[in-house]
Amino acid sequence: MRTPYFLIDADRIEQNLKVLNGVMQRTGSKILLAQKCFSCYALYPLISKYLSGATASGVYEARLCHEEMPGKENHVFSPAFRDEDIAVLQTICDHVVLNSPQQLHRYARRLREAGLQVGLRVNPECSTQEGHAIYDPCAPGSRLGTTLSALRSYLESQGITDLSSVIDGLHFHTLCEQNSDDLKTTLDAVEEKFGTYLHQLRWLNFGGGHHITRADYDIPLLEQCVSHIRQTYHLDVYLEPGEAVALNAGELHSTVLEVQPRGADGVSNVILDMSAACHTPDVIEMPYTPPVLSPVQSDAGHIYRFGGPTCLSGDVIGTYTFADELHEGDTVVFGDMAIYSMVKTNTFNGMPLPDIYIRQGGETRLWKTFTYDDFKSRV
Ligand SMILES: *Cc1c(COP(=O)(O)O)cnc(C)c1O
Repeated sequence: MRTPYFLIDADRIEQNLKVLNGVMQRTGSKILLAQKCFSCYALYPLISKYLSGATASGVYEARLCHEEMPGKENHVFSPAFRDEDIAVLQTICDHVVLNSPQQLHRYARRLREAGLQVGLRVNPECSTQEGHAIYDPCAPGSRLGTTLSALRSYLESQGITDLSSVIDGLHFHTLCEQNSDDLKTTLDAVEEKFGTYLHQLRWLNFGGGHHITRADYDIPLLEQCVSHIRQTYHLDVYLEPGEAVALNAGELHSTVLEVQPRGADGVSNVILDMSAACHTPDVIEMPYTPPVLSPVQSDAGHIYRFGGPTCLSGDVIGTYTFADELHEGDTVVFGDMAIYSMVKTNTFNGMPLPDIYIRQGGETRLWKTFTYDDFKSRV
């Protein structure tokens, strides 16, 4: 197998799906795949067996769900739609979530007349994450979601007293890799601000960022949150996780091209045939250091700084320690590489895109292979 390549573990995804389906069964909630995180549509039939459908960030992802998850729910949210987007979406989606009163004014009636359900994304103005400001839609100045005061002035200006005369549900998305205690905090803010409206509607979408399939996730508290909303307001509840579906279900295999002599800091630079900038941009964007599964890391030994073969000095994956020396030709395997990886690759520097393999029931098959033509068609 030519490196670099992604290897998706379909059995692990099915384990995750069983956990999510358990939440659906016990609470009567509906869970959607957030496709922007993981769009490997070869697994959409498997995902369709366990989840209610998918959510999209725009026309392309909505089309992918329409084509590859036939008969399942197809939701879409974008900070702003164009007329031509709405024309397509109203033929393939069942739920459209709008971001602002202006978008509501422009599209809500048309979408409802076409038989779709319309939602409004709200901003509960309740930040629960410190680490990653770029992932906090409640940060000051956020363009994502409608605040209570903006919603109120719109409704007043239009003389609307019953929200159900314009929309069917509310949506919030404020979490990122968080546990259910932060969901609880956020829900309290949503209820405090938007509680009176919830009584008028059909559903509430809790967005994504719920790390439900992580070992330390408090599932009972999530289920209490869902049940509380369902019982208090008689609403359907949607969750739309991305990461939780494909958490720990992928590897990125790469090969050591060169081991440089140890520097003054005692660390050797290693050039791999994979690039953080091209193949795992979240490593730089978020930033985070991905786990290395093989070789096995050690507390003491040889220290290596892994970098990619691009022009970017900051194309560094991380620093790792191994008991044994690394050599040219060795394989390095990164873990948790199914999420926000394949959907974000690019060909900067003319880097080849990693092939994609799927492992299922002990068998591994090549799903996608990329060539020079993929680079040439995009530049
Ligand atoms: C990113 C996003 C999701 C999925 O988030 P995860 O962190 O992958 O669970 C769901 N809904 C919206 C609106 C998003 O922007």
